[in-house]
Amino acid sequence: MRRKFLIVTLIVALVMTLSPFSYGTSIKKQKKELKEVQSQKDDISGELDAMKKKIDKLQGELDKLNDSVSKKAKQIRVAEKELDKTKIQIEDRRDGLNKRLRAMYKSGSIGYLDVVLGSNSIEELVTNVDLVQKIFNNDQTILTDLKAQKTEIEEQESKLRVEKTKLDEKQAEKVAKQEELSAEEAKLQARYDELEEQETKLIEAIEEAMANNNVVYKGGPWAFPLGNASYTQTEHFMAQRSYEKHPGIDLACPTGTPIYAAYGGEVVISGTYYGYGYAVMINHGNGLFSLYGHCSSLDVSVGQKVKKGQLIAKVGSTGFSTGPHLHYEMRQGSTPIDMKPYIGIN
Ligand SMILES: [Zn+2]
Repeated sequence: MRRKFLIVTLIVALVMTLSPFSYGTSIKKQKKELKEVQSQKDDISGELDAMKKKIDKLQGELDKLNDSVSKKAKQIRVAEKELDKTKIQIEDRRDGLNKRLRAMYKSGSIGYLDVVLGSNSIEELVTNVDLVQKIFNNDQTILTDLKAQKTEIEEQESKLRVEKTKLDEKQAEKVAKQEELSAEEAKLQARYDELEEQETKLIEAIEEAMANNNVVYKGGPWAFPLGNASYTQTEHFMAQRSYEKHPGIDLACPTGTPIYAAYGGEVVISGTYYGYGYAVMINHGNGLFSLYGHCSSLDVSVGQKVKKGQLIAKVGSTGFSTGPHLHYEMRQGSTPIDMKPYIGIN
């Protein structure tokens, strides 16, 4: 996780710039607390991810529902158009019927009177009246059919409206649920931020506690970090490199060669440390530190008290390294210093 990496980097950066060091029980406690806070943060982060997924899923459902609603609205519009068309047809038909009736009675051309007076026999009269009746009946039938059609369309339209209302309700429900989840998400985010703040405070507390150094440097002879093992010095202290001066010495020797504490003190770093790869840093007190870089394995842990000549790690080529060697470095505070007065070479 990137966040974890950031935190580790932060702690390492803190440790690097800090001087002098001290690891009391309070630091151990605070570190434990920090771990708990970080694990809680991880949990919350997981919950937040799950919540985001839920919200996304809901959004997908909502999108589908929106589609359905607009489809329904379109269907309603189509029904409305049909209804208008039918209404016009009914009006037309009614107009036609009225016109015909008016024409028949006004002009008298094919009116009842004509039918009656124009009929030469009683049989013809009956036939003619029947014919006029049929025309009326036909008009009436069409009108009735159109009216039925109109009713049907109206029913269909109202059904569609009911369906749309249901969809609208469902949509509103989903929107409400989404808002609820968003609120929950915001709460989780707030909890996460709170934990982060707590984490920062703990890191600061650890930093402060570490500043209360209780390791005292007593002077006297130092041990050579490789003991009696044979080595080739491949780099000197403060040798100019492309970007910077080399802050330590490089002693090439086979992977696995034991590395010993050059002096007694307390381990403040035992783990991956920037380009140093696997590294051990020992606080010797009075702001004096020794650093052993590019190890293949580590034999001590942070907070451990070590004695001069005690095995602490083994030579390797981890970090920014081109081959197995021990990078040995000493610092006064955070400033690299010449190791010659201590171990005889630089
Ligand atoms: Zn080096």
